[in-house]
Amino acid sequence: MSETRRLPLRCYNSDCNRIYELTLELEGQPRLRVQCPYCGTSGTVTLNRYRIIRDNTITRSGGEEKSSTEGWSFPSPVPVEAEE
Ligand SMILES: [Zn+2]
Repeated sequence: MSETRRLPLRCYNSDCNRIYELTLELEGQPRLRVQCPYCGTSGTVTLNRYRIIRDNTITRSGGEEKSSTEGWSFPSPVPVEAEE
């Protein structure tokens, strides 16, 4: 299942430093390339940093059942990093 989310991002260009929103596809990628619509500076957002995995262990008769739920915890705005 794909998950998209609209996030506020902070441009890392110190001459710009503006906040812009982008709809990002979150699933299946550790980092995303983004581009500031104001100054055109492109950078990356490291998604894995904000991924939260909760382990749920359910104990039943006959054993344990493990499952994990995945969620996201983003700061607002999300910092954009310089491209490597
Ligand atoms: Zn910018």
